[in-house]
Amino acid sequence: MADAVSSIGSSAKGVINEAFRGKEPWQIVATTSATVLATVWLYNFIFDDEEGIPSRVKKTAMRIARLVPAVRRKIEHETRRLDEGFENQMKKMTEGMPHVTSLPAEGMAHEDILALIERCVHSSDYNWKTGRVSGCVYKSSDPKQDDVMAEVFRLTSATNPLHADVFPGVCKLEAEVVRIACKLFNGDDDCCGTMTSGGTESILMAVKACRDYAREAKGIRRPEIVMPVTAHAAFDKAAQYFKIRVRTVPVHPETYTVDLNAMRRAIGRNTIMLVGSAPNFPYGTMDDIGSISRLGLLHKVPVHVDACLGGFLVCFMRKAGFQLPDFDFKLPGVTSISADTHKYGYAPKGSSVVLYRSKELRHHQFVISPDWPGGIYGSPTVNGSRAGSSIATCWATLMSYGERGYVEATRKVIDTTRFIEKELREIEGIYVLGKPATSVVAFSSRHFHIYTLSQQLNKRGWNLNSLQFPNAVHMCVTLAHTQPGIADTFVKDVREEVLTLLEIPPEPIHGMYAVYGMSQGVADRSVVEDITKCFLDSLYYTPRDKQPEEKQSTETASVASAAADGL
Ligand SMILES: *Cc1c(COP(=O)(O)O)cnc(C)c1O
Repeated sequence: MADAVSSIGSSAKGVINEAFRGKEPWQIVATTSATVLATVWLYNFIFDDEEGIPSRVKKTAMRIARLVPAVRRKIEHETRRLDEGFENQMKKMTEGMPHVTSLPAEGMAHEDILALIERCVHSSDYNWKTGRVSGCVYKSSDPKQDDVMAEVFRLTSATNPLHADVFPGVCKLEAEVVRIACKLFNGDDDCCGTMTSGGTESILMAVKACRDYAREAKGIRRPEIVMPVTAHAAFDKAAQYFKIRVRTVPVHPETYTVDLNAMRRAIGRNTIMLVGSAPNFPYGTMDDIGSISRLGLLHKVPVHVDACLGGFLVCFMRKAGFQLPDFDFKLPGVTSISADTHKYGYAPKGSSVVLYRSKELRHHQFVISPDWPGGIYGSPTVNGSRAGSSIATCWATLMSYGERGYVEATRKVIDTTRFIEKELREIEGIYVLGKPATSVVAFSSRHFHIYTLSQQLNKRGWNLNSLQFPNAVHMCVTLAHTQPGIADTFVKDVREEVLTLLEIPPEPIHGMYAVYGMSQGVADRSVVEDITKCFLDSLYYTPRDKQPEEKQSTETASVASAAADGL
């Protein structure tokens, strides 16, 4: 063995000496450094942190194509057109509402402020309170509940758990919400977590914890997440923020749950976490968390269960009389869970929980700056200052529902969803995707573009969610849809519109649906990214000032007073 090594060594030496025979020293130095630099470049190209080679090669090709002036001009022209389209749409949606674009010179009267806010809140074509909107608002529209929340907000709007010494009681409320959630998800005494501002932050935190844990415990420097394509976009956001590569795993074409064999194959030495959804957002189907948990144990990789959407349904479903496979800390491989209190926890927007099996993982969520002149700074989540009111209103909601309240609400939501699922399955011309696990029913059609159905339903006041790859739409049932008659009307409206669409050729899809439908065919996804950026820009639309230099403040004052007058 040693002989073999030394003979390879000496023959390599021979080859190199032969190659450099007769070369001057500077040539040897130059060739060596060029080779080293090229190797480093190639290594970095091959082992990029975030993206695979095929996707980067494709992107580079697209970038080169954009250097062609004609292509670039065409793209710029189309982008400008879309920009204007988005802006006009936003203009139309805020039409008739007074725009206030600079600070009023004098403070406005309370009644005027409230009146303006009220107009903004009621500016929509859609009414969630009457159960016309899929998902979006989960809580009940019970005015008594709103009054309690308003009162809790009044009491706590100034509080901030960052200042634990000033607001110890708010910290206690957060600790209690976390403890209650640990118990709901069958965590033991070691189970812990934090509250966050929403599902995305919960997911960001779980991803950070897994990344930093993997780095410390296993020395993983090029972290990868293995997750179903159906996992929420927040994981992608986390990967972009934290420089992590995502390996997506397809779902079964019939069940729309993660393909476990593909997941197993995607696990490698850089895998920092496996993800399963209970359930996922697009189809409302639940991945086989038991099997993912076993994969996690086998490969010694943490498993995160994203129960942001349905967490506060699944943990009450058995008590409400429905069957459900295990999905929580009862499964030994599950190391963290995210669950949104601001969805089926029915708390006001701005709260969620992220839970861990042990403190070790939670420690990797925290960020500590021990050397800051402003003091030793330790904070558990993304935000420094945090709204104590979000914690308190969440706590108050948990108290006001109690276990019985949640079990009853869960029964209503699941019953309504199962009813809608059953009825939709009977409508000829559309089909349901997968088996809805909780409150989401996704459906599509083989006879017409499903977005045309959405478009028709919009005219009847319904607002569904559009899905892509494949084209589908979904209805996410909330408390608002459990009111008498809503589900019946929905099914009836779908049945009637489907009948019409099957009989007469549907009108072409337009507006946002057209953009959405068209964008799926665009090979260069960066174009879709650019279009989406234009859309986001349009959300920040305000009318332009006419004379930017002159009379800024008087104009402002007149806008403000016109606003107040226009009420
Ligand atoms: C809503 C949702 C999230 C993200 O939650 P936000 O509160 O919108 O940030 C994550 N996962 C699933 C499955 C969700 O439905």
